Amino acid sequence: MITRRDFIKVAAAGGALATLGDMPEAKAAVKTIVPDPAYCYESEKKIPVIAEVDLVVVGGSSAAVAAATAASKAGRKVFLFTPLSYLGDDICGSFQYHLKKDEKPVTALSQKIFVQKKEPTPLHVKQILENELIDNDVVFLYNCFLTNVLQDNNHAAAGVVFANRSGRQAVACKGVIDATLTAVAARMFGLQFSPFVTGKQRFEFTVVGNSIKKAPELLSAELLPYKMKAKGKEFPVVNYAFELELKSDTYASLMEVEQKIRDITWDADQGDSSDLLWYVPQQKIIGQQSYTNTFTSVRDIPLQAFTPQNKKNIWILGPSLDADRKIAEVLMRPVNALLLGDIMGELVAARLADTSMPSELHTVQSNAMASDYGLVGELLNPLRPSMRFGFAQSERGALPVLGTYDVVILGGGTVGAPAGIAASRQGAKTLVIEQLHGLGGMGTLGLIGRYWDGYRDGFSSEIDLGVKNMAPEDHPRQQKNWKNDYNSDWKQEWYRREIRRAGGEIWFGAIGCGAVIKNNVITGVVVATPWGRGVILCRTVIDSTGSADIAIAAGAPFEYTGKRSIAVQGAGLSHISPTDYYNNNDWAFIDDSDMLDVTRMFVQAKVKNEGAYDIVKLPQTRERRRVIGDHIVSVYDVLNHRRYPDTISYHKSSFDTHGMIVDPFFILSPPLARHTIYEADVPLRSLLPSGLDGILTTGLGASAHRDAMPVIRMQSCLQNQGYAVGYLAALAAKENKTVRKVDFKKVQRHLVGIGNLPQRVLTDKEFKGFSNKEMELAAQSIPEDFKGLEKLLTDHKRCIPLVNKQLSLCSDAEAKVKYASILCILGESSHVTLLEDKIKSYPQWDKGWHYTGMGQFGMSMSTLDALIIALGKAKQTSSLPVILEKARLLEPDDYFSHFRAIALATESIRSGEAVAVLAELLSKPGIRYHHIANLKDARNRVVPGSDDVSTRNRALKELHLARALYGCGDQDGMGEKILKKYAEGLQGHYARYANEILQDQT
Ligand SMILES: Cc1cc2nc3c(=O)[nH]c(=O)nc-3n(C[C@H](O)[C@H](O)[C@H](O)COP(=O)(O)OP(=O)(O)OC[C@H]3O[C@@H](n4cnc5c(N)ncnc54)[C@H](O)[C@@H]3O)c2cc1C
Repeated sequence: MITRRDFIKVAAAGGALATLGDMPEAKAAVKTIVPDPAYCYESEKKIPVIAEVDLVVVGGSSAAVAAATAASKAGRKVFLFTPLSYLGDDICGSFQYHLKKDEKPVTALSQKIFVQKKEPTPLHVKQILENELIDNDVVFLYNCFLTNVLQDNNHAAAGVVFANRSGRQAVACKGVIDATLTAVAARMFGLQFSPFVTGKQRFEFTVVGNSIKKAPELLSAELLPYKMKAKGKEFPVVNYAFELELKSDTYASLMEVEQKIRDITWDADQGDSSDLLWYVPQQKIIGQQSYTNTFTSVRDIPLQAFTPQNKKNIWILGPSLDADRKIAEVLMRPVNALLLGDIMGELVAARLADTSMPSELHTVQSNAMASDYGLVGELLNPLRPSMRFGFAQSERGALPVLGTYDVVILGGGTVGAPAGIAASRQGAKTLVIEQLHGLGGMGTLGLIGRYWDGYRDGFSSEIDLGVKNMAPEDHPRQQKNWKNDYNSDWKQEWYRREIRRAGGEIWFGAIGCGAVIKNNVITGVVVATPWGRGVILCRTVIDSTGSADIAIAAGAPFEYTGKRSIAVQGAGLSHISPTDYYNNNDWAFIDDSDMLDVTRMFVQAKVKNEGAYDIVKLPQTRERRRVIGDHIVSVYDVLNHRRYPDTISYHKSSFDTHGMIVDPFFILSPPLARHTIYEADVPLRSLLPSGLDGILTTGLGASAHRDAMPVIRMQSCLQNQGYAVGYLAALAAKENKTVRKVDFKKVQRHLVGIGNLPQRVLTDKEFKGFSNKEMELAAQSIPEDFKGLEKLLTDHKRCIPLVNKQLSLCSDAEAKVKYASILCILGESSHVTLLEDKIKSYPQWDKGWHYTGMGQFGMSMSTLDALIIALGKAKQTSSLPVILEKARLLEPDDYFSHFRAIALATESIRSGEAVAVLAELLSKPGIRYHHIANLKDARNRVVPGSDDVSTRNRALKELHLARALYGCGDQDGMGEKILKKYAEGLQGHYARYANEILQDQT
């Protein structure tokens, strides 16, 4: 394994570029050089530059915020990013909410934090810091990990590159303040530090609610002189100090220390804990001046102690300065950090006043003799059309190999954590990498601690019993209905312990952001940690990100919102208090693969939940990116109870749609209201991204139609799916095969044995389609409420003549309309007049539908809406007058579904005749201007109440009409203008939709 020191050495080499890799001529030229297995070759790339600013602040500590705002107040344009989903990692991440007796907040910001509220809560601090940036026009992004630094032709610092779930982007700048704890940017520049020395060092960790523990590694356990207060309860806060060895200068070692500490400190009373270890970094930068005086005041330390030698335009803000470690520790106290940030921001702003923007940007790149493990796949995504400021050149280079495992699981959530347990129990060398600081994903940190339907046997029942047994029967937090409800903290800890007990390793606070692919087989993943980017080699990657992040980075096709549809299931971001386990909500749309949108939501959720203890750290999204696998589980597979010979997981739930549905079946025959439970099998082939081996994509990121996913997504079923993929991946390792080559019946027998799957899966046969007789009977039964439609729509070719035949045979007017609707929706225009007449028979609109938040089942449109959409699909201009007649009746407050029906139908017919009516609708009061342009806008537009849906319904009306207007030819560019606003806006799904429509037309 490569150490951090090696990585720094390589990064330091800069300029000189690798000559090895998959370039044939290069290989020939250096035949005698043996590639280093500790490095993975990466080809040349162009990284999109998304902003040009005066100053980039790396990291989200309180000092970082203070520096950013001070520089902004001095007139500099500032950009800040942090790997966390909040600001103030030094205060909130490691629980430094209390001031010591002699500490006085001197800056305005520290007074807001520590004086405004005497005993600050996490949300109070996070919101104050966030507002500070927003109010001072500092642009910032959450969940972004520094991966590279940029320099100009004179080797001066000139920008940064970061990774996030959208891919990688660069920001160009005149100067960088490195506000990370360990001066990560400075290390990436290869600047000189004092040497890393092994040996024991002090680490602190704070927990809320727990009782004091004893352990040999413990230096102290202090009950802090304040309590955390939430919902009328008080929770003790305990700070632990440990003496433990950081074995090597690697993130893996840091994670090992953290897991050990969590082993010791957890108990069943825990309601919250630090995300991050608190420690004083032992290495210091070699600065322009070493500060050797005794500490008197922050103001006395010269900027030169924070300024590295031999590199222009970078400053170290924090404890890695060139000073004694005791001074470093003093500077880590929040009041000092805030003051230091203030001072440095102002000084740096002044220095940058006369600095010019770099003209060329190069990543500081490794020149190690890297090995060829395959191509490094990743997304290079500029986020929005206007965020294109050229490219930063990333030459061929070498990524450090951070480890080699049998199984690497990205995302330790609902599926990923069980996968980690199964793989490690089977003896596979397993690593689970989770972006958050706990396991269990939506079910724990997402605060959905309650099952809703779902198949509960198999491995899931072991989890439930295990979680219950985390505390004695009479523990006050013991759930009465423990087979249904579970404590978030207990479940997180059960997962963690089981993985560790079985020998698995866990890294928190890191993301998977790429894949290494050789001959269509995944050979490793690219990860971004707070300490930099590297590769982890493995036999199987389990992509349990719930959004298919790794498969997509590897080039697999996927389904999501876009020009085809803006149907999104409702999402939320709820409040949280210690010991909360279930705060389900549905008041937003969030694209969690879009960092602009995620940042927007964290801002809005703070306003929505003002006064709460905290908000969750995981956007509660139901709609995710879904990989296209070898099979896409369809609505028809679910409705027809399709079986497969390779079933891997068994699911049970209803079509709990949480919003619009798009499949033609549901337009004609909406899903039944709650509680109609469907069973669904998911085959292995739906977890295999099309064209790739060595990877399994699970959970909400698996290959299924969005309308089918609600039946598949229940936690208990997905936990079993997690176990199954972990077991399969371990078997692949044992047998030295890729997952596609394993004898899957072996896996199924094991899964049947533990109750994950019903016995029948061992003999289930491939579905070959319905017989002609079955199709004919289905066609005959359509008059009974579209009975049989689920069979007919499995084969459009055979469906059309059968429906035509029945239509000609039947005399009942209603039945004829049903048959005509089927034909129209399949694009057949022979019987449009039947639908036109039916629509005409409605003197006014019937009761429509709009987003209502929680508890949306059944129809997402009215009968008249369905008829209009079906008619539109037949694409007949002659049908327009009937449709436009209904459009003219619409008023701004009418149901969203009516607007949607008109928009879908007119856009499908695409005739200039619709333009005037659509433009008139868009011009009605209240219809326009619902896009969110920036974070100030986002903050101002929050409507109170966790059930509010007005913002969604309004924006959707505007977007749908604009799309239709634009598609029909537009009026004075009105449609285009609206789409462009959304294309640039912060609402991720709307931006994707608008951008794809605009791109399609150009
Ligand atoms: C609001 C809401 C309410 C719900 N209500 C219920 C309910 O009542 N009952 C029920 O059974 N189901 C419910 N569901 C459904 C269920 O919770 C989800 O379907 C399920 O949890 C999804 O599991 P997953 O493993 O695919 O994703 P998740 O549980 O979200 O796990 C994904 C994990 O991957 C991590 N991650 C993501 N990207 C990366 C990356 N690149 N690198 C590293 N880590 C990454 C995330 O932090 C997360 O921990 C609800 C879902 C939502 C959103």
